[in-house]
Amino acid sequence: MLGNLAAYPPALVLYMRQRVVVDQATGCWRWLGNVKPLDKRGRGGYAGVYIRLSGVYGRLAARLLYEMIHAPVSDGLELDHTCQDRPCVSPLHLEEVTHSENIRRGLFAKYERRHQEAMAGA
Ligand SMILES: [Zn+2]
Repeated sequence: MLGNLAAYPPALVLYMRQRVVVDQATGCWRWLGNVKPLDKRGRGGYAGVYIRLSGVYGRLAARLLYEMIHAPVSDGLELDHTCQDRPCVSPLHLEEVTHSENIRRGLFAKYERRHQEAMAGA
């Protein structure tokens, strides 16, 4: 894992590097750049890249870092946060899955969160 960094402009690599801090407890990479707030329906919450360089403006930081450090995402696949932490941008916490698998995991994660909240409140 140290794939394509050299293929990207040094200014972009620096921009990304300066905005990542590792959470020592979880191993998640915290993004110091823009994170889209959750909307009323719980959508959003992902880290975004807003530098006008190499056509990356408005891209998801996690996906871009995955492509830079690991490899391009295969056709037809999506990246799933295995840590269930949407703002996390660690390529180590991303896994390529199909859309339906991503949905399935998301639904179960939502169920588990609700269950835990209910147990905590009981
Ligand atoms: Zn993570």
